[in-house]
Amino acid sequence: MADTRPVHKGSCHCGAVKFTVKLTDELETARRCTCSMCSRRGAVAVSAELKDIDFTSGQDTLSCYTFGTGVAQHYFCSTCGIYTHHQRRSNPTQFGINLACLEGQTPFIDEVPVLDGKNHPRDQKGGAGTDGTYKGLEVGLLKFTGDKDRL
Ligand SMILES: [Zn+2]
Repeated sequence: MADTRPVHKGSCHCGAVKFTVKLTDELETARRCTCSMCSRRGAVAVSAELKDIDFTSGQDTLSCYTFGTGVAQHYFCSTCGIYTHHQRRSNPTQFGINLACLEGQTPFIDEVPVLDGKNHPRDQKGGAGTDGTYKGLEVGLLKFTGDKDRL
């Protein structure tokens, strides 16, 4: 079967880093997370398989940050500092992609589920959520109630 998923164009803020990506399930996977890293950066992430991202420029401008177990790899532009994507600890075959970096997208979508990243799935009994469903990991929902025409 042909892969008919849309191709999204992505970039950092300064434009040094450019990529294209196909998402696993469009915005259905949009999530925020309560871990120490995600809380600080405040980005909404969507899911993509590692093979479905292609860097068209600036891959050498990316810096990578790791902490804790070092499994998750958090990439950001070394010029403008914007987080573009990270390789997941919960599912290392996937990237989380910064939704705000995708052309025509906004992080101010109606509802974004919040995941319990503080208690990481890898550290939980049975590895809840490591299958990519996030089942049992949602601790809440962020809602945007503003005027979308002014975004
Ligand atoms: Zn940049």
